[in-house]
Amino acid sequence: MSTDARKPWMARLSKGVATQAKKGALHASPPSVAGLGLTSERSRAAMVSRLQASGITSERVLAAMAQIQRHAFVDEGLASRAYEDTALPIGHHQTISQPYIVARMTELVCGKGTPSRVLEIGTGCGYQAAVLARVAGEVFSIERVRALHERARANLRPLRIANLRLIYGDGLLGLPEAAPFDAMLIAAAAPTLPQALLMQLAVGGRAVAPLGDSEQTLCVIERREADQFVHTALERVRFVPLHSGTR
Ligand code: SAH
Repeated sequence: MSTDARKPWMARLSKGVATQAKKGALHASPPSVAGLGLTSERSRAAMVSRLQASGITSERVLAAMAQIQRHAFVDEGLASRAYEDTALPIGHHQTISQPYIVARMTELVCGKGTPSRVLEIGTGCGYQAAVLARVAGEVFSIERVRALHERARANLRPLRIANLRLIYGDGLLGLPEAAPFDAMLIAAAAPTLPQALLMQLAVGGRAVAPLGDSEQTLCVIERREADQFVHTALERVRFVPLHSGTR
């Protein structure tokens, strides 16, 4: 299901508040981590310093990025590249987002506070979900590819994160039984935010999503009133597409 600009609630959506210059979101070439002991705490610390240099300011987000071992979420053969600021393949034509994007979206999801209930669409390997769970009260993460859902479960099991629920299903439908959500993080791109998701956002809540198809923009959609959605466009990004159904 996708949203339709002709729907009355869409007409009330006020659009395009700010377009910020992208700060190395897509094309930055990060300094090499060679020689740092590639999967160590030190290489994570170096990654966190680069995130700060790229404009990530939230101490909680930076602390979460320093704690979660990204190398444990990718194939062994890619572990040495886990702390480079780059997306990496996780199989099934999907990728784990680059650390900058994970940090940026987490910071945007948090806004100025601690969201108590967060919905993530697109669990992938589970890394973003683990980071979110460190900064939010309760996190629900949906994945449509069963093999990835199982893989995320296996990756996350050793971390024993009590406030994270993984769901196998079609994220386009949201999770009505756990709604409303204070925040949503959509980890795959769609032309517009699906209506079911908008309707499951709490009044006062916010969704962070890459919107567009060949050209995508990271957007924050705030639900100010039951029927008022305020849309802020931020930097250019590149995500895999949001697909309907499960497999
Ligand atoms: N956050 C992830 C990366 C996400 S990649 C991580 O940290 O690894 C985008 C993911 O969205 C893919 O795993 C893809 O299968 C999933 N996806 C795409 N459409 C979906 C949908 N409708 N519902 C749930 N997941 C979806």
